[in-house]
Amino acid sequence: IVQFKDVHKSFGEFDVLKGIDLNIAPSEKICIIGPSGSGKTTIIRMLMTLEEPTSGDIYVNDANLWKMERAGKMVPANEKHLRQVRGDIGMVFQHFNLFPHMTILDNCMVGPIHVKKESKDEAKQHSEEMLKRVGLEEHMDKYPSQLSGGQKQRVAMARALVMKPKIMLFDEVTSALDPELVGEVLEVIRNIAETGETAMVLVTHEMDFALEVADRVLFLDDGVIAESGTASEVIEHSENKRLQSFLRRFR
Ligand code: ATP
Repeated sequence: IVQFKDVHKSFGEFDVLKGIDLNIAPSEKICIIGPSGSGKTTIIRMLMTLEEPTSGDIYVNDANLWKMERAGKMVPANEKHLRQVRGDIGMVFQHFNLFPHMTILDNCMVGPIHVKKESKDEAKQHSEEMLKRVGLEEHMDKYPSQLSGGQKQRVAMARALVMKPKIMLFDEVTSALDPELVGEVLEVIRNIAETGETAMVLVTHEMDFALEVADRVLFLDDGVIAESGTASEVIEHSENKRLQSFLRRFR
């Protein structure tokens, strides 16, 4: 459903991505690992369509998202397609980005009502189903400040899932959590992965988790995909010295 072809990204003189080729199939689970500054979040932001490439092509459902203007600047190839693509993407970040003045249930209902144009009743029903699924049925009427970090992160997942995305993006969703709360969040991601209802791209430092759920692991190093393969090939059996030294920090 998504294809990157020789994608480059520079900020001023600084080349962050130096030629990324990547295919994401429906229901595929991809983990991106790599050192700080290697460009992981930049790839996620491009998948979110928030960042345009400096050069190269990003196809979603076989349509190119960006085109080069005469001045060399990338602009949306088709605004309508770009908006549709945005509607198919769910995201969860390190920080939960919940609306503090709204209940958990209301947080989940915003997207279905305003973006999907569901009626209030439909949105409520779908949001309640999702909150049940992430184990928060008891907390629907609470406010974000009344929940633990792990619970807030599960709300963020329910809020993304209720939009029925075709791709879910997870950017270091456990790194801001206390260690004892990491497990409950990974459990929800594991459940989503098992259903195969959406493709998933996860930036993570949880190597055991990557081994368990990923169909494919990419090691991003200095703006290129330096290794790509099954989780076991990349995490357990790679000969790449930089990857080995990176992994020693997590295992
Ligand atoms: P981390 O694990 O620390 O989050 P990362 O692999 O996700 O790192 P990115 O956030 O993609 O790395 O950033 C890659 C590099 O690009 C960094 O050096 C960052 O400072 C730089 N960068 C990212 N966004 C911008 C921007 N908008 N303007 C200038 N530089 C940027």
